[in-house]
Amino acid sequence: MATPSLRILVTNDDGIHAPGIFALKQALDAAGHAVTVCAPDRPRSASGHSITLHKPLRLHEVTLPDGTIGYGASGTPADCVTLGILDVMTNQVDLVVSGINHGPNLGWDVTYSGTVSAAMEAVIIGIPALAVSLASYEKNIHWDGAARFAALLAGRFATHSLPPATLLNINAPNLPQSEIRGVRVTTQGDRQYVDRLEKRHDPMGRPYYWLGGKIHDKEAAEGTDVKAVGQGYISVTPIHLDLTAHAFLRDLRAWGVEEMP
Ligand code: MN
Repeated sequence: MATPSLRILVTNDDGIHAPGIFALKQALDAAGHAVTVCAPDRPRSASGHSITLHKPLRLHEVTLPDGTIGYGASGTPADCVTLGILDVMTNQVDLVVSGINHGPNLGWDVTYSGTVSAAMEAVIIGIPALAVSLASYEKNIHWDGAARFAALLAGRFATHSLPPATLLNINAPNLPQSEIRGVRVTTQGDRQYVDRLEKRHDPMGRPYYWLGGKIHDKEAAEGTDVKAVGQGYISVTPIHLDLTAHAFLRDLRAWGVEEMP
């Protein structure tokens, strides 16, 4: 039985000219979906969930490598989701897919991620969403396994729905499709960065700084996104927008906070 065609908005944070978004579009096209691309007109990685409030946004047509038209926006990934859903697609959207990001969005990366924030924005508007990332910064990227899996998972939305305020965060290892070991449903892991701040001095002796850092090489916990990708699996983590630390509510009340004057 053929999967019904979905109306899918594709966006990213690496910009509309990045190879990952085009690989994603092609895989969704091949699966028979109606794909519209609306993405930042320049790289906006690590922009988090920022939105543009204090200046106008512009949309312009961009010819994609297959000759079709996409929409480049002057704003952030979250802006693109708003523009794409409400204007370009006039609310006729079944699913938003953000990616494929060049780089991991594992563990706490999701809090910085423009890729994941685009999916969050879709969920806030009321459209289900996936974020897809290739967990490698290498130059040579195997996009096909991640793209094919994203298209397969997108097809599930014809028959399945996500609970409220929930999105799916997908990370794929940088392996040829034939070498990917399978798929694991995971929890959000934690990854510590070390040497996050590098302080240098310019020729005038004034300090300047580079943010960055390397991943601390510790053993990832079983069942996490970090672990699964490290073992060669595609990781799928359901992410909830409710960031409340529910397990701590009781103890916090025991601090006497509610009795404070
Ligand atoms: Mn990115």
